[in-house]
Amino acid sequence: MHVLVTGGAGYIGSHTCVELLSRSDRVTILDNLSNSSLEAIRRVEELGGGRVNFHKVDILDRTGLEDVFEQNIDTPFDAVIHFAGKKAVGESVEKPLLYYHNNITGTINLVEVMEQYGVRNLIFSSSATVYGEPASLPISEECSTSACTNPYGWTKLMIEQILTDMQFARPEWNVLLLRYFNPVGAHKSGRIGEDPNGIPNNLMPYITQVAIGRLKQLSVFGDDYDTPDGSGVRDFIHVVDLALGHVAALKKFTDNPGCYVCNLGTGKGYSVLDMVKTFSEACGREISYKIAPRRAGDIASCYADPGKAARELGWQAQYNLRDMCEDSWRWQQQNPEGYGKQD
Ligand code: NAD
Ligand code: UDP
Repeated sequence: MHVLVTGGAGYIGSHTCVELLSRSDRVTILDNLSNSSLEAIRRVEELGGGRVNFHKVDILDRTGLEDVFEQNIDTPFDAVIHFAGKKAVGESVEKPLLYYHNNITGTINLVEVMEQYGVRNLIFSSSATVYGEPASLPISEECSTSACTNPYGWTKLMIEQILTDMQFARPEWNVLLLRYFNPVGAHKSGRIGEDPNGIPNNLMPYITQVAIGRLKQLSVFGDDYDTPDGSGVRDFIHVVDLALGHVAALKKFTDNPGCYVCNLGTGKGYSVLDMVKTFSEACGREISYKIAPRRAGDIASCYADPGKAARELGWQAQYNLRDMCEDSWRWQQQNPEGYGKQD
């Protein structure tokens, strides 16, 4: 299979490309490297044991996109996994137009060029954020989506709608909307992992940077939620499990075309304080933390009903919280500055 991976140099994309290469798929990455580096692609090749065909292109650049499809016309793409997008919630509040333009216009460009070249199998990276404050737990795909609390979340919900409408109009298309819960962890080798710009917004990279001494102390946002220990509860999923979810999803494209929605989560909820404790045990160091006020826009609990993925994709998560902590820690220890300035 020849797979085009947009955003393939990023955190989830790089882990997915390793799994694709390992099963001898042909992999083409398209990325503008705005939040990633060439070094990640070198390491993907090393871990996957194969070469990647890389194009430094922006999905907003229509001509650049067409060139990528044109250059691969003799071995056309069988499917596209579309990870490329901006994902920082706080930045999306400050710069909404940047987010709407990059994520939505970029996706429309991509889909138009796919149609132009007759490539009609698409996997899109959506997020559990589209469920907003869930009416019930665990969250199944039947739960209604609801008002998002930030422009980033809205881009996911809007793109889901756009792709659903597009597939309805063109029933020969196969569209898979994968709603990720909270990806954490890193490849077992410690060679690839999450490399956020600046001070991390997300829990796991914040904890790893406290553990390594780059940051002083974690703020636990809220201890008065209606959860077992008062801190927020999330469905943390190992990034390699998530990557394998995409590999499983590609098999869906041999079935009847349609537009499918599927959660990718473990089905287990762990609290922020559970995570701090498990990480401390995994790295053998105390993680200094203080209780801070709730973060605006956060919900108390969010975890998946992963049943549909098991039934329809034949996939379920294998790694536990301890694995996620150990692997994140190995990546952080071996790469205290992330990929650094190695390009
Ligand atoms: P990431 O930032 O590590 O990877 C995204 C990649 O897309 C980066 O390599 C970046 O350089 C590239 N990119 C961004 N805009 C681009 C553009 N205009 N043209 C070409 N390349 C562009 O993020 P990630 O964590 O790997 O997330 C991948 C996808 O999954 C994103 O769409 C994200 O919104 C979604 N997602 C992530 C999470 C999460 O917590 N990490 C959760 C749910 C959904
Ligand atoms: N969180 C925290 N301190 C941090 C970052 C996050 O307490 O520095 C909490 C956050 O309030 C939420 C959970 O950790 O309850 C997961 O947050 P993250 O930003 O990683 O993912 P989200 O669920 O918001 O997408």
